Amino acid sequence: MSTKRILIIDDEETNLEVLGGMVETLGHETLFAQSGWEGLNLLDHNIDLVLLDIVMPGIDGFEVLQRIRQNEQYKALPVMMVTCMSSREDRLTAIELGANDFIIKPVDKTELCVRMNSLLKIKEARDELHNHQLRLEKIIEARTAALRESEERYALAVRGANDGLWDWDLKRELIYFSPRWKEMLGYKEHEISYEKDEWFRRIHPDDAPAMQRALEQHVMGQSPHFESEHRLMHKDGFYRWMLCRGLAVRDAQNNATRIAGSLSDIHARKQAEEQLRYDAFHDSLTGLSNRALFMNRLERAMQRASTSESVYAVLFLDLDRFKNVNDGIGHVAGDQLLVAVARRLEGCLTSLDTVARFGGDEFAILLDGIEEESEATRIADRLLKSLQEPFYLDGIEMYTTASVGIAISDGHYHRPEEILRDADNAMYRAKSSGRACYETFNKEMHARVLALLETENDLRRAIEREEFILHYQPIIDVQTACLRGFEALIRWQHPEKGLLSPGRFISVAEDTGLIIPMGWWAMNEACRQLVEWQKKFPAFQSLSMNVNLSVKQFIHTELIQNIQQILKESGLAPSLLKVELTESALIQSPEKAKELLHAIRECGIRLCMDDFGTGYSSLSYLHNFPFDTLKIDRSFVSHITENVKNLKIVKTILSLCNDLELDVVAEGVETVEQLEKLRELHCMNAQGYYFSHPKSKAEIEELLTHAPDTPLPISS
Ligand code: C2E
Ligand code: MG
Ligand code: MG
Repeated sequence: MSTKRILIIDDEETNLEVLGGMVETLGHETLFAQSGWEGLNLLDHNIDLVLLDIVMPGIDGFEVLQRIRQNEQYKALPVMMVTCMSSREDRLTAIELGANDFIIKPVDKTELCVRMNSLLKIKEARDELHNHQLRLEKIIEARTAALRESEERYALAVRGANDGLWDWDLKRELIYFSPRWKEMLGYKEHEISYEKDEWFRRIHPDDAPAMQRALEQHVMGQSPHFESEHRLMHKDGFYRWMLCRGLAVRDAQNNATRIAGSLSDIHARKQAEEQLRYDAFHDSLTGLSNRALFMNRLERAMQRASTSESVYAVLFLDLDRFKNVNDGIGHVAGDQLLVAVARRLEGCLTSLDTVARFGGDEFAILLDGIEEESEATRIADRLLKSLQEPFYLDGIEMYTTASVGIAISDGHYHRPEEILRDADNAMYRAKSSGRACYETFNKEMHARVLALLETENDLRRAIEREEFILHYQPIIDVQTACLRGFEALIRWQHPEKGLLSPGRFISVAEDTGLIIPMGWWAMNEACRQLVEWQKKFPAFQSLSMNVNLSVKQFIHTELIQNIQQILKESGLAPSLLKVELTESALIQSPEKAKELLHAIRECGIRLCMDDFGTGYSSLSYLHNFPFDTLKIDRSFVSHITENVKNLKIVKTILSLCNDLELDVVAEGVETVEQLEKLRELHCMNAQGYYFSHPKSKAEIEELLTHAPDTPLPISS
């Protein structure tokens, strides 16, 4: 036994000495007190046992014992009464008051040793137990606190997130699923067991491998926590997106024994995300791929072809005269038709092919991994045939056709745009060879494309070098054959090819936007020229100048500013400038066009509708727009004498113009018969080779030397 500290309380010094000596020889430490009070004061010195005399002056041993036991701290402190009294009554009193043992004076050393030892052992055992209990209590307290805290946190999180819970005993391979977990998948409490398969067999096969990987990683201790987004099969048979999170509990060897966590329903978020992703790559009207997705697939097909023998083809498909559908039956029906066309196209293709809508009535198709060129043409044929069947939209039977351009991969293509451009070109070729057919891009078209490119480059240079000039074609009063004005017509003084007519370059200029600087140059030059002639030939003050305005210029943002600038710089009276526009300027957005036309008229300029009759707009359309003059297209005038139908049309136009108080110019008058007929019909003005070809500045000046009221000399 280790050294203990013994407190001896006795009023007689000799007793203290004797007892003290005995205790010390047993190897214990001693503290002495000569009175009850003194003894009580020494109790807090870590005393292991008290030897207490009963008969003492002041407070006696009983009272000291009583006070010791009253203190909670010393309830279990062993107290041995040392007394000469041995009456039964005294002993009983002492035991009642809480003494642990007795020893009778004179004390026998052996007896003291035995009795003390047994008391000290009991105390030691009790102390140990007590300490253990204290430790235990502390641990429990700490744990419950932690548990309470985490439980609270969890309860809060669960309540907030509406999560399901799971707790997986990895040893026994059982999983506890909370009622909410089951409810999230549409099940009642009793419908789902503790089997782990209740979870695993419901995972979408596409998501299972990634989820397994994440789980294994965490179990192996390679990730701080487990997290996986996967689809779970709901009781209703549909998959729901879930977010599953968990944390492993590990044993002393760091092996996972348990893993527990939560399940959150993220279906709505996932669907929204998927929708966004889908929208980014699909055409909202037809649900087909959009240009971005198509280009992406095309690029991949190109990459594959560059490392293998695989062949692919791009088909460009454009509906014929779709504008007529939109204008004729409205945009809603037009949209319905586009959707129906999309479905037919899909019906002709396999899931390996991509069909995309590029906007409007343009579709592109990628045939990936075809055997040979003939397969592409066979499919094009099938597409065209499928579109030949009538469409039924809201009970209305409708027909449409399409033109298709095909470009086949041949190793020359490096960028998706290149093959698309060629398919597009082939499609235009199909259109111009009568529509409702397909064309395959070939070498000759390639040459044509190159020539166009060359023209474009040439044109750019020509604008910089100012290689353009204007010719002027007289406009004549039909009744008197006197000169009324001119139409300015552009020519290109090409350094190698000589003088080129607009037919050789205008369409390229339109396509490339070069028409804009070119057109403004022409208007500026024409106005400047007329003012110069007014000064040089004062008799001709009322001659007007017609200038062609391209659609591109018309919709250009600086339209009005440019016109005003030109009028200001040239000093021409606005009323002498007539701007010629074709119907195509009005078709796209009639409301906007109307606004612009009014703005032009606000400048004091006259408006002239060019090539009337070749476009789509009906006669009734005309009074909607503020035109001053209408030019009847050459195609009507040229057959006016032999074709009754043409004659009727011209008559109708003329009578309408009369009603609307519009000025009229008949274009392309080439013979005297045509002129006579127009005179007969009271057509006011004419323009054509019969009177004069477009003429150079010098030739016109020659004309202007005649008096203004003499008929124009008829050109041969
Ligand atoms: P347009 O505005 O309809 O001009 C009339 C065209 O018919 C001119 O062709 C003219 O030479 C031709 N022509 C006139 N009388 C007769 C005839 O009796 N018989 C035949 N067969 N043809 C006749 P050109 O000069 O080749 O111009 C063609 C088109 O180019 C013009 O058609 C116009 O649309 C466009 N254009 C010409 N100059 C310009 C311009 O400065 N700006 C813009 N935007 N376009 C222009
Ligand atoms: Mg014209
Ligand atoms: Mg014309």
